[in-house]
Amino acid sequence: MPASQAYDVLIIGSGAAGLSLALCLPGTARVAVLAKSRIDEGCTLYAQGGISAVTDPHDTFDSHVADTLDAGAGLNKPDVVRYTIEHAPAAIEWLVELGVPFTRHASGSEADAFHLTREGGHSTRRVLHAADATGRAMETTLIDETRKRPNITLFEHHIAIDLITANKLGLAGNRCLGAYVLDIEAHRVDAFAAHCLVLATGGASKVYLYTSNPDTSSGDGIAMAWRAGCRVANMEFNQFHPTCLYHPQAKSFLVTEAVRGEGGRLLLPDGTPFMERFDERGNLAPRDIVARAIDHEMKRLGAEYVLLDISHKPAPFIKEHFPTVYARCRELGYDMTLEPIPVVPAAHYTCGGVLTDLHGRTDLAGLYAVGEVACTGLHGANRMASNSLLECLVFAASAAEHIGSVLTDTPVPPPLPHWDESRVRDSDEEVVVTHNWDELRRCMWNYVGIVRTNKRLERAWRRVDLLQHEIHEYYSNFTVSSDLIELRNLAQVAALIIRSAQLRKESRGLHYTLDYPVSDTSRPPADTILDPHTFADTAARMTG
Ligand SMILES: Cc1cc2nc3c(=O)[nH]c(=O)nc-3n(C[C@H](O)[C@H](O)[C@H](O)COP(=O)(O)OP(=O)(O)OC[C@H]3O[C@@H](n4cnc5c(N)ncnc54)[C@H](O)[C@@H]3O)c2cc1C
Repeated sequence: MPASQAYDVLIIGSGAAGLSLALCLPGTARVAVLAKSRIDEGCTLYAQGGISAVTDPHDTFDSHVADTLDAGAGLNKPDVVRYTIEHAPAAIEWLVELGVPFTRHASGSEADAFHLTREGGHSTRRVLHAADATGRAMETTLIDETRKRPNITLFEHHIAIDLITANKLGLAGNRCLGAYVLDIEAHRVDAFAAHCLVLATGGASKVYLYTSNPDTSSGDGIAMAWRAGCRVANMEFNQFHPTCLYHPQAKSFLVTEAVRGEGGRLLLPDGTPFMERFDERGNLAPRDIVARAIDHEMKRLGAEYVLLDISHKPAPFIKEHFPTVYARCRELGYDMTLEPIPVVPAAHYTCGGVLTDLHGRTDLAGLYAVGEVACTGLHGANRMASNSLLECLVFAASAAEHIGSVLTDTPVPPPLPHWDESRVRDSDEEVVVTHNWDELRRCMWNYVGIVRTNKRLERAWRRVDLLQHEIHEYYSNFTVSSDLIELRNLAQVAALIIRSAQLRKESRGLHYTLDYPVSDTSRPPADTILDPHTFADTAARMTG
């Protein structure tokens, strides 16, 4: 029997963005947080390197701003960059108060000060970390804290399918009223009503065959917002992490950039260093340049991987700084204190997303988007390492403040109709979903990956268009399952990525195409903004 639930705020997503937001809301607000998997599963849990913030007296906001703008290749919004960076120290203080155990210097003149690492693109050491498992430390602390709050209810294994808007119900004054949510264990779709709804669903890197992301990153929030009529921006900027461990049993295990920050060097399979040929910053070049260099060398040599070597550093140093990477490598038979390890690039971060303002507001009244799902203008055409956890925290706080200030004035949502399953039946061909998943992700990897061309994008479009048709048909006829929901969203996001890439007739930041290999300097850099109301081809299949 379908049920309806009502909350003041419904947060879809339980990563750094969703949980921080829940904790920053007034304690009087009735808050629900959904996670489609376990409560801790999501990118946040796997973040290794750390979180950037100006905490060293020798560092400055101006320097952090300049580095972020430099990485973003002309597409960052300078006011957003400054806002985020100036609010970073307060965000760190908040995390420390909650109990996040950031690594500190043990002795010497800096005793008890934060130990800072340096990552690609940063001109100085400014990345705070909890050994090499920063995200885990943050996520578990946030979960513990959330569980203590009586006003917050956590729903694990609940996947949001679609947003419910006044427009869709034929009501005047369009706004977001709630969401249909599949309770995966009970096999039941419930309607969740809320005064305000927050998308904190993370990114969409699962759209690529090889990714450092967990399975949760299927772009659900971007696709749901698009179907609800919100604009999305800069979807062509997909960041590929240069160094994921290459091993058949390691599901894209990421080797943090801090390994290169602490002196690790990339080598060809025969041991020759190569990064200096591509960028004067060598191994510390921004990750897009490093990923492209690796992709280039692998294709040139027909190699399956390159090597990452930090074995020249003392073994205790390696074990102390990279315990997680060291342990995982050991499990797989590599000893990074003695030998180089094999690495490959993999899809890592979605710079684009649902267009938002400084408070996380989207185009739809009552709907906010925070974290990797959003396109705030912080990252521009390329995210600088360790700025994303920061973005989650800073925008969670600003969105919570805004929601807190409007909550009492927002209209009470009307009773929501139950999910209609009268015209669908159970699928007798689940294999179609698996096949389409595989085909879609392979197509995106082959044709819309690190290096693009017009021809490859056109080829990808034709295939994704066809897949969208098939998936839509399947979705209309069969009972929903979490795999089908994610596949439908991935196909939608793939279409948005391809169209955005086709619209950008230049190479900039993370978008590199052989047909336009340099940036267009004849006009000011501009965002790629897609509007569902004017994009008939992808919009045609976005409803239903
Ligand atoms: C291996 C790895 C290492 C990284 N290292 C760093 C780093 O060192 N520093 C840094 O700044 N960034 C790093 N990043 C990026 C950073 O971790 C992410 O950008 C950030 O954690 C995103 O947080 P989020 O809260 O937006 O999403 P996530 O943490 O991904 O959480 C998404 C949540 O949404 C839920 N969800 C999604 N769809 C639905 C749905 N339909 N219904 C219900 N729930 C849904 C999921 O269940 C999950 O709870 C790393 C990423 C990876 C993968």
